[in-house]
Amino acid sequence: MRKPFIAGNWKMFKTTKEAVAFAETFRTLYEPSDVRVAICAPFTQLAALKQAFAGSGVGVGAQNMHFEESGAFTGEISAPMLQEIGVDYVIIGHSERRQYFAESDETVNKKLHKAFAAGITPILCVGEVLEQRDAGQALDVVKAQVEGGVAGLSSEQAKSLVIAYEPVWAIGTGRTATPQQAQEMCAHIRSVICGLYGSEVSEEVVIQYGGSVKPNNASELMDMEDIDGALVGGASLKPEDFIQIVQF
Ligand code: 13P
Repeated sequence: MRKPFIAGNWKMFKTTKEAVAFAETFRTLYEPSDVRVAICAPFTQLAALKQAFAGSGVGVGAQNMHFEESGAFTGEISAPMLQEIGVDYVIIGHSERRQYFAESDETVNKKLHKAFAAGITPILCVGEVLEQRDAGQALDVVKAQVEGGVAGLSSEQAKSLVIAYEPVWAIGTGRTATPQQAQEMCAHIRSVICGLYGSEVSEEVVIQYGGSVKPNNASELMDMEDIDGALVGGASLKPEDFIQIVQF
């Protein structure tokens, strides 16, 4: 049985002080349940958030990392650096990184291998842009992103992978995919994983939907069979909104 997983992606928002204030308020609202919960925050907030969420059951994730252990890569952060502060998750291949920072399926794949080697659970983001959807290419685009991303992962690794389907046209636009559109793609992603690893793995892999998830649409999305969770941008910034999504 797959456990629901709601993760916030704060993107480039909040200072450390604001992050800790969020955690303090969120802890007063949150009661651990069957739902897995995490906040993915900017690097500078991660150590403080680990401390602020200690013992609460709320996980902490980064939003990116480099695929090398160390080296002359000015401005980058490596897996051992995240591992040292106990980071639980790392978002890999978010569409904003693909769009603005030249992330490719190849770098995504290297990062997934590195994250698993460091014991950090990756959240692999995939999703088509509007022109691709309009041209009827969405299923093929996402299939290629999934296959390219997971290449060479073992079955054990694939089982614990989290995949987030985030149609780019639904991110930050207030235009959510319909539950049927989101379900169709999440089922497709599961079938791609099944084709690569078999049904034992595909039935365990956790698939989130992301793109304008709000308190008022979370439950209808979560009702869909192949949607196991949500990756939440804007609505994860306020504890009062995020808790409602966590309690979908
Ligand atoms: P919004 O929820 O703000 O649309 O962002 C979605 C997202 O990109 C999460 O990674």
